[in-house]
Amino acid sequence: MALVNMRDLLNHAYHGHYAVGAFDVISLEFLQGVLQGAEEARAPVILNFVVPQFRYYDFELLAAAAVAGARRSPVPVALHLDHAADLDHVTLGIRHGCNGVMIDGSHLPFEKNVELTRSVVQTAHGCGIAVEGELGIITGYAGDDQAEPGPGVYTWPDEARQYVRQTKVDFLAVSVGTVHGIRPERSDLDLERLTRINRAVGIPLVIHGGSGLTDAQCECLIDRGVARINYYSGLSQIAARRLRSNCLVDRTGGAAALNQGVSEAVRREVARCLAVWGAAGRAEAVFAAASPWQEVEHLIIYNSTDTDAHVEEMMEEGRRALGAIPGVRRVFAGRAIKEGAKYLYCWLVRFAHPKVVDSYRDHPGHVAFADTRFRPTSAARISIDFQDTGGAAAATRPADAVGGRRVPG
Ligand SMILES: [Zn+2]
Repeated sequence: MALVNMRDLLNHAYHGHYAVGAFDVISLEFLQGVLQGAEEARAPVILNFVVPQFRYYDFELLAAAAVAGARRSPVPVALHLDHAADLDHVTLGIRHGCNGVMIDGSHLPFEKNVELTRSVVQTAHGCGIAVEGELGIITGYAGDDQAEPGPGVYTWPDEARQYVRQTKVDFLAVSVGTVHGIRPERSDLDLERLTRINRAVGIPLVIHGGSGLTDAQCECLIDRGVARINYYSGLSQIAARRLRSNCLVDRTGGAAALNQGVSEAVRREVARCLAVWGAAGRAEAVFAAASPWQEVEHLIIYNSTDTDAHVEEMMEEGRRALGAIPGVRRVFAGRAIKEGAKYLYCWLVRFAHPKVVDSYRDHPGHVAFADTRFRPTSAARISIDFQDTGGAAAATRPADAVGGRRVPG
């Protein structure tokens, strides 16, 4: 189990003066390349899922693969949901395994941005999930807005202080001259502004639009509190170049032949970035400092005073109502296979994090379902909240893991 707590990871980077790469995952080739690049660099890494990119792939499928890949990775991995517009996006991201979320209210007036961010922080923190907010506008998002970078869209240090204090975000995305995508000319960075923002907020800062920055510019950003760099366009161009050259070399090849070497190209670039940003060789130190990220299983076995058909109806209702509660990853409900079993029915609700035990219990959706549908007919029941201790133990043994491939599990 190499999934680690996102908050611990970025705090480690912030205080250790390096930056973790957050690489957008848009396909299985990217996922493999990013994980292998981090492994090669023995660096922690963030798998980034960007909401506006969901039109290109099936988030649920790719996130499941990312969770499986992160679990067997020998280096620390966290999953992030980027550019969520509302609480529904955030709940979806948590349900599919993200342990960090970004709420993007940067286009809203300050007070509205604070209001939206605060409500997301309240829910996400109740699920143990770290939150990134954004203040100032990072331009160039495809189809979003094409405003030029400059003081008109940059983050203001005093506003940043107020925003962080009022919202309690864990990380802050700042606008200091980077843009989404790649611009033909070099980005001019307002480093003086970044220094003042860092002093004002004292939490890990995030740079969106890491492509097109020089190595020296990245070092200047990291010196001023940047602990995470989002990087996609550069990676995407490298992958596209490989695809184009495959097409030229092999004009009759099938899809598998045309995809050859794409994940290797991603791997090399990821390893290079992680070395430049100072994250290479940090895997063991992060394992020692960051708590493992592990789900909780909430198990209830019970008997009912109602008929089988009514219990089945009640379970179907529960799958829907409980499955929609933030922090719930999955709801299983069923009946014992053997007749005459001591307990006939079972609920197994999977929570993203131990904090969900409390927020779930108090959530109005759970309270209503439990009080009106479940408890009145299920007098005899026992319950337990538990974690798989095998997974947690594995995450505290970095020496065994780094450098060798652990058995998937
Ligand atoms: Zn972004």
